[in-house]
Amino acid sequence: MSERVIPLVDHRTQGLVATLPPQLIAATGLLADGLGRPLRDLRISVTDRCNFRCSYCMPKEVFTSDYAYLPHRALLTFEEITRVAKQFVAHGVQKIRLTGGEPLLRKHIEVLVAQLAALRTTDGKPLDLTLTTNGSLLRKKARALKDAGLNRVTVSLDGLNDAVFRRMNDVDFPVADVLDGLQAAQEAGLGLNAQGQPTGLKVNMVVKRGTNDDQILPMARHFRGSGITLRFIEYMDVGATNGWRMNEVMPSAEVVRHIHSEMPLAQLDPSAPGETAERWGYAGPDGQHDPALGEIGVISSVTQAFCGDCNRARLSTEGKVYLCLFASQGHDLRGFIRGTPGADGSLGHPASDDELASAIGAIWQGRTDRYSQLRASLPPDEAQKSGRRVEMSYIGG
Ligand code: SAM
Ligand code: SF4
Ligand code: SF4
Repeated sequence: MSERVIPLVDHRTQGLVATLPPQLIAATGLLADGLGRPLRDLRISVTDRCNFRCSYCMPKEVFTSDYAYLPHRALLTFEEITRVAKQFVAHGVQKIRLTGGEPLLRKHIEVLVAQLAALRTTDGKPLDLTLTTNGSLLRKKARALKDAGLNRVTVSLDGLNDAVFRRMNDVDFPVADVLDGLQAAQEAGLGLNAQGQPTGLKVNMVVKRGTNDDQILPMARHFRGSGITLRFIEYMDVGATNGWRMNEVMPSAEVVRHIHSEMPLAQLDPSAPGETAERWGYAGPDGQHDPALGEIGVISSVTQAFCGDCNRARLSTEGKVYLCLFASQGHDLRGFIRGTPGADGSLGHPASDDELASAIGAIWQGRTDRYSQLRASLPPDEAQKSGRRVEMSYIGG
């Protein structure tokens, strides 16, 4: 039985204060961080609650019915989220992913989607607007999300075998309902653009060795040729509650070898700079990628650091900017934009758009995070002890 680490400090209450730099930083779309990395991708967590208890993310023993979730007044409103997002976009963000917790639990989420869908990148293009969900509420929500302007969704699914899946979500949720949600997303046209071309409906599977690795081949067989890209994610040492151990990580290279032995694969070029997934296409009889069979992706967050290209920022449910998935502190923008008297970071008045853009600019310019690269230089399991981190359910994946 693995030893579980229970957090003694609540990192949501600790934070760095967003401040106004001495000189305003105009949003030009050309912002670079301390290691020269641009800002292109923003992940927004819209709730810290979830109806699943995946052991690698919100273990049941910690996230009990007594767990202190954020009260509603602590959350950024949709208008506040859109205001902040607009300044991130002005600094160069091209892609926004809504996440959580379970984002579809946030009431009227489609209203936020519509507000974000109206934003335009610095070169006048619509954003790549997407959402990651456990799929449990997709049947109910898919049409409204599509109508509001969502481009596509990523559905997390850790196995096809009902017993394995129920064990993974730990709330006895049946796999058939997630598959039905996925079908609802396809029927609603999430995954197709206005011209009817595929925009990339994806399924994410976190692989935990000894728990669901027997689901790799059934999942690959199921989604091969379906128009849905299956991506395998290495089980990560995020947060402080999942009792992570290196021996439960199945390296992506092993996943690829395993699938290749039954369904030959050919490596594909990355689709975009900063892309986290390595792409492998299913090969036809000639050994070349056959687009009709589709592709898989592997995200090697543990065995292959991709910090060098990392262009992502994360906005927590209550308005803190996190510069790395493994950060222990975020920069609070809520007090700054609300101008709440006495609040940390408050200017004494609600921040103007220029002030907000400057604060975001200064936060990004000060960024030097590269946790995965540093972890690679430490012995296995050592890095996890190196500092306290926020939970994935709070800042989103
Ligand atoms: N509830 C939604 C879902 O599950 O898709 C969105 C939030 S969830 C935190 C986002 C993604 O993070 C999911 O694909 C989930 O599988 C992944 N994730 C959570 N904890 C993880 C861990 N310890 N290692 C790797 N991926 C993890
Ligand atoms: Fe919920 Fe998603 Fe975390 Fe699972 S991975 S507990 S579905 S937030
Ligand atoms: Fe980006 Fe941090 Fe992940 Fe490196 S460890 S890729 S900096 S989120």
